[in-house]
Amino acid sequence: MSFQGKERQGGVKQITSHANPIIKEIKGLVAQRKHRRDSGLFVAEGLKLASDALKAGWGVRYLAMGPEARENQAALDVAAKAKAQGALILEVSNAILTNLTRRDNPQMVVGVYEQKVRGLDTIDVNERKTWICLDRVRDPGNLGTIIRTGDAVGAAGVVLIGDTTDPFAVEAVRATMGSLFHMPLIRCREDEFIDWRRNWPGLVVGTHLRGTMDYREPQYKEPLLLVMGNEQAGLSDALADSCNTLVKIPQEGQADSLNLAIATAVMLFEVRRDMLQLAK
Ligand code: SAM
Repeated sequence: MSFQGKERQGGVKQITSHANPIIKEIKGLVAQRKHRRDSGLFVAEGLKLASDALKAGWGVRYLAMGPEARENQAALDVAAKAKAQGALILEVSNAILTNLTRRDNPQMVVGVYEQKVRGLDTIDVNERKTWICLDRVRDPGNLGTIIRTGDAVGAAGVVLIGDTTDPFAVEAVRATMGSLFHMPLIRCREDEFIDWRRNWPGLVVGTHLRGTMDYREPQYKEPLLLVMGNEQAGLSDALADSCNTLVKIPQEGQADSLNLAIATAVMLFEVRRDMLQLAK
């Protein structure tokens, strides 16, 4: 059985067998990028995320509710809303929840949601905000942390450039702590980005270990594109060339570089500091 083309008919289904086809499909979504790509669905764990997803208008396909959730009023309220939107509520055991998420202490609710990724053409270039642009980000934990941090500073969203890790992988979704549902995601090729960026009305700032300018020097203004490099290779030459400025965060000690998510956070809070000062 496949999720694709399946009718949206809200209801409740008790599942007791690990071999149930829906359970197998959810496990496939957890384990394999191909399943997520083919179905356009992904798995997120927890009641808070289910509530965030519903509030932000994301499509919910399934909500698996463990025994604890079925005794919890907040979980029942979320399930009622999801069901009204056409989700199928799955009543499952803790053993099935553990099996689904490969976690010893599973959350009481596990949801299956519809992915949302947009193209560059959906970006409003005049909106005075910062877009975080990631060159071939590889690590799902880094990507999730960057989405969460971007949400925390009020960034516009994240642009995924080139061949990146899957933002809908369970590890990435976990690291976003729910911010995935509030931060628009854009996906594009490198050449598309470089082409599109030619009409960008504001600054394009890249971060580079060979940058000659201290990251605190520029006067940041929005709209802004903040371009961050790949964990192993750094920023590609083509992307570096497309930036107005390449900045460096000065370091002490022996570390070659900062972790990508940490460097992004340092940059975002510096931009935010300048924006708050401008607003005074
Ligand atoms: N070996 C890579 C290199 O040569 O660039 C290290 C990449 S670093 C782990 C990942 C990204 O984080 C970099 O491409 C850059 O965007 C950012 N970054 C990390 N440390 C930085 C620093 N001190 N200054 C500026 N950017 C930094």
